Amino acid sequence: MTAPSDAPRVLADIALEIDPDEVLRFQGYKRGADVPSREVRALFDEAMALGRRLMEPRAVVRWAPVTRREGDTLEAAGVALTIPAIERAWGPVAELAAAVCTIGDQLERRGAELWEARELPLAVMLDSVGSGAVESLAEYVNDMLCQEGIRRRLQVTNRISPGYGPWDVTQQRELFRLCPGEEIGVRLNASCFMTPVKSISLLAGAGVAARVDHYFSQCARCWMRDCAYRRAPALKTVHR
Ligand code: SF4
Repeated sequence: MTAPSDAPRVLADIALEIDPDEVLRFQGYKRGADVPSREVRALFDEAMALGRRLMEPRAVVRWAPVTRREGDTLEAAGVALTIPAIERAWGPVAELAAAVCTIGDQLERRGAELWEARELPLAVMLDSVGSGAVESLAEYVNDMLCQEGIRRRLQVTNRISPGYGPWDVTQQRELFRLCPGEEIGVRLNASCFMTPVKSISLLAGAGVAARVDHYFSQCARCWMRDCAYRRAPALKTVHR
């Protein structure tokens, strides 16, 4: 199988299912340990139904061959990314896959209206639904990139994002040069934060000997049921 075109690709019609555990995590619940009360559950169900109606999941993705690898600096398509400890974490990667994902701004607009109307519990829960939805979307895209890599016999790493862990948030600008979020309406402000707020930018590496699953098994959350290369049983899915 040949490499995908290295032009950015827009994905729409994404059959996204929101992971309820992600939503509850944003509410401060520990996975498997805390059980929400009946009242919280009712609020959760209401916010999930509203969130499913309002979210508009979209993503732009781009594959690019690595043209320079020097310690923790990786260069692709003329863009140099410096990511502390990436050489040790990912091992030898021959390609980068960058993506920007968003659920759009309808959900956050409705949340602002709920704040205005002092419907605070629902506003807070809806905000968590939005955060859970965009995390689920980033997982969905990471799974898809893994499947695309595997078809070309490349191992694909877990995703990372500027501003998380040791990776400097100002590298968002470089990531956007590699993968233009503007194509799906995502913009960066002067502080490198994205609008709509419920957006995630991500980067994964790929190579025949790339290190995968070094902090969690991507397969355990992957929606590709029939993947012949599955390394762990699927626990749940972010695919409808
Ligand atoms: S099941 Fe595992 S190997 Fe297959 S696409 Fe999903 S994450 Fe990749």
